[in-house]
Amino acid sequence: MFRLSLFAGITLLAVTTAVAQPVSKLPESKLSRAEVEAQLRFLAADELQGRRTGEPGNWVAARYIAEQFRALGLKPAAGQTDYFQRIPFLQAKPATYGSLRLGSDSLQLGSQFVVISGKPTDLKTETVYAGYGLTDGADGYNGRDVRGKVVVAQVGSPEATTNRALLTASEQKRKLAADKGAVGLIELYTSGTYPWPIVTRAFQGEQLALASSTELPTLLHLWVDNGKNQLATLKESSQPVSIRTSGRVQRIVEAANVVGVIEGTDPKLKNEYVLLSAHFDHVGVGKQGGQLYTASDSIFNGARDNAFGTVALLASAKALQAQRPKRSILVVALTGEEIGLLGSRYYAEHPLIPLNQTVFNLNSDGAGYNDTTLVSVIGLNRTGAKAEIEAASKAFGLSVFADPAPEQNLFDRSDNVNFAAKGVPAPTFSAGFKTFDADLFKYYHQAADNPDTINFGYLLKFCQAFSYAARLIADKQNRPQWVAGDKYEAAAKALYAK
Ligand SMILES: [Zn+2]
Repeated sequence: MFRLSLFAGITLLAVTTAVAQPVSKLPESKLSRAEVEAQLRFLAADELQGRRTGEPGNWVAARYIAEQFRALGLKPAAGQTDYFQRIPFLQAKPATYGSLRLGSDSLQLGSQFVVISGKPTDLKTETVYAGYGLTDGADGYNGRDVRGKVVVAQVGSPEATTNRALLTASEQKRKLAADKGAVGLIELYTSGTYPWPIVTRAFQGEQLALASSTELPTLLHLWVDNGKNQLATLKESSQPVSIRTSGRVQRIVEAANVVGVIEGTDPKLKNEYVLLSAHFDHVGVGKQGGQLYTASDSIFNGARDNAFGTVALLASAKALQAQRPKRSILVVALTGEEIGLLGSRYYAEHPLIPLNQTVFNLNSDGAGYNDTTLVSVIGLNRTGAKAEIEAASKAFGLSVFADPAPEQNLFDRSDNVNFAAKGVPAPTFSAGFKTFDADLFKYYHQAADNPDTINFGYLLKFCQAFSYAARLIADKQNRPQWVAGDKYEAAAKALYAK
C-alpha cells in the first residue's frame, strides 16, 4: 500500500513542478530513525521532569533545542544575540494555611475563602465597605478613611461579565485599596462565571501567567464565597476582622521560546517567512500533572505531547537548512502551551520578524495518535495549503485526515490560534487520529506517555512529511490564503494590508 502511494506522490510532483527534485534526493529522505528516536528519548526523558514551564527541566529542553539550532547553522533572529526569546512569567504558589474571622463568622481556607495575593500576615482590625471598590464616589469609597483597615468590596464591576474582566477589576481595586492605605482587601465572590469550586481549584493550585509588570502585588487580598449572600452583614462597615495566613507567594520566573532563522534563497521571496512551531513544554511531575500518577511513574514525560512535534520541528530545521527553500523559515519552539498557550501568545505580541512578513504558520502539536497510516491536520481545509500538505504526506506514505474530533474545537486550542487570530494562516499538523477514543486517552496528559511507547518508524515518517510540507509551502509561487469567509480572514486582510 505504501509503495503504491509513494509512486503516485512522486508522479504528481513531477507534473506540477517541472524542475522538482525527486523526493528521494531531498534531505528529508536522509533523516534517520535513529536521530529522531534519540531526540525524542532525550526530550521526553525522566531527567527533564515533565518540562514544566518555569522549571529547570523546561530550560534543559530549551537549551537542547538552541544547541541543535547552533549545530545546524540556524541564525538567531535579527537583533537577537542568541536563540532564546526570554519571557517573564508571574508564578503564584497557593496559601498553605489561613484562618479568617469576619464579623461573627469563622471561615475555612479553600471551602470558604481563597488568598489571591499577599505576604505572610497576622492582623486584627475592622472592615470598611466600599461597594465595588473601584471609585471614590457614592458607589465606592464615598470619602471613607480606610487607613489600617480591611476594605470589603463586591467582586467584579457592574460591567464585568467575563472572567478576565473580573480579574482586571480585581487588580484595579487592589491597587486603589493599597494607595488609600488599607491593610487588606476582601472581595465578596458571587459571580456566576466560575462556580466557587473552580475558584478554589485555581487559587489553591500553582498558577503561571504572563507577567504584565515586574511589580508584584503585596496587599493581602482575599476572595470570600458569598454565593448565597450569607455575608450580607458585611455591607455594614466596622465589623471586626482577624486574618492569619501564609499569604500567596508570587515571584517572577523566566522561560523562553527558542527561535532560529533559515534564510530563503529567492531574492524577493526570502522577505516572506514561513513560521514553523511546536511547543516543547509539558505539565511536570506528580500533582502538577493534574491526573493520576503512581510512585513508580509520577513523571508526565509528554512523549506525544509534544516531544513528538518538537522532534518534527528539529527535523525540519535540519532538512530545510541543508537545502534552503525560496522563502525564509522561522523555526520557533514554544514554551508555555500547557498553561494557556502563553509562549505563542507572547511571541504573537512580541514577534521577532514583523508579523506581516510572516505569511504562514505550520504548527505541530497533538494529543497522541491511534492511526499510523495518516497525519491529522487541523484547519487543512481553511488555510490554503491543502495540496502541499497532502503531496508531502503522500510522498512518505501517509494520508491526511482533515478536522479530526470537530466537537473538541481543536483549531482554537493549540498555539496556532494565537497566530491565526492575528491573521496568519495557521493549521496544526498532528499525529494520526480521527476521534478521541480510549487509545488516545490512554496517553493523553497521562504519566504513561513515555518514550518507550512510541512507534519510532511512524515518528520518522511524520517528521519527513512535516518538513517536506514546510518546504513545498515555502517554495510555493503564491503564499497560502484563508478560504473566503473564514472567521480569521478579516484579521488577515488587516495584517497584510499594512
Ligand atoms: Zn497538552
